[in-house]
Amino acid sequence: MTGRDLLLDMLSYRRPAGSQTERQFIERFIAPTGAKPDGYGNYILRVGEWPILWSAHTDTVHEQGGRQRVQVCGQTAMVPDGSNCLGADDGTGCWILLEMIRAGVEGLYVFHRAEETGCNGSRYIATHTPELLDGIQAAIAFDRRGYNSIVTHQVGFRTASDGFALSLSEALGISSLQPDDGGIFTDTLEYAHLIPECTNVSVGYTGAHGRWESQDLAFAEELRDAVIRMDLTDLAILRSPFDPLGPRGGGWWDEDPEVSELGTDLGPDPEEWWWDGEDGLHYGEPELYRCDYCDDVSGDTYELSGGRVCGRCVEELV
Ligand SMILES: [Zn+2]
Ligand SMILES: [Zn+2]
Repeated sequence: MTGRDLLLDMLSYRRPAGSQTERQFIERFIAPTGAKPDGYGNYILRVGEWPILWSAHTDTVHEQGGRQRVQVCGQTAMVPDGSNCLGADDGTGCWILLEMIRAGVEGLYVFHRAEETGCNGSRYIATHTPELLDGIQAAIAFDRRGYNSIVTHQVGFRTASDGFALSLSEALGISSLQPDDGGIFTDTLEYAHLIPECTNVSVGYTGAHGRWESQDLAFAEELRDAVIRMDLTDLAILRSPFDPLGPRGGGWWDEDPEVSELGTDLGPDPEEWWWDGEDGLHYGEPELYRCDYCDDVSGDTYELSGGRVCGRCVEELV
């Protein structure tokens, strides 16, 4: 079974984290790809060499396990009654990964466990088996509502550069998908200190976690086709990995922020690291000040008792 039939079949499984039905879902749909479980139960499959991690999660926020009837109205799938949600979050993401595997799209596929209970599966990987991610340049989750997001920030922290998001938007060729700085938690946030570009892409569900959750089937198919067609060498890798949530284990950012490239850089010049003379290295938009001595505006300024001066003037003054 493939395509829309497969998606609808997958959505009929109610999959609370660790439930029997989640287990059946994994055995029926995911294990047959050859994906193998890690120590936590995340299912992982390597296809080819390309250094991209494709991410989805197998659990849902269903209150109970078991199967459910899925109703299709035109291009929309919903649950008619008797269930607290559809589970397109993130059944649709799992389906996109399966269709990509079938088409031979290269990358490291991770079907995460226990995302809804706090990204526990991805945190296990980041903490216990980070070597799995060695060399990975981008982690792309398919776990976002609506039609508009290529997430650049999760819970307010930058996890992907605008240049990367724009290059992904262009490579996919779906004009509604644009950089979105309003993302919330998903598994790829756990990798923000290990992988340069960590994003989450809209898969066309709305009302996740609720009774009226629905999936736009046509959008899911359009996105699947776009990902399978996409030229992965077009993605711009611009961000340096650092931990937006602060110290966790070792240092919180890699020594020298580097700008690396994977294929052609279609994005704008990032220039997003900036040096603040007082507080060190920052990421994101610098706060700009005018130097009281030379009148230059820069993000590299020092607060002195006589006013605020730029990095060049402070050398002469101090
Ligand atoms: Zn989700
Ligand atoms: Zn969710």
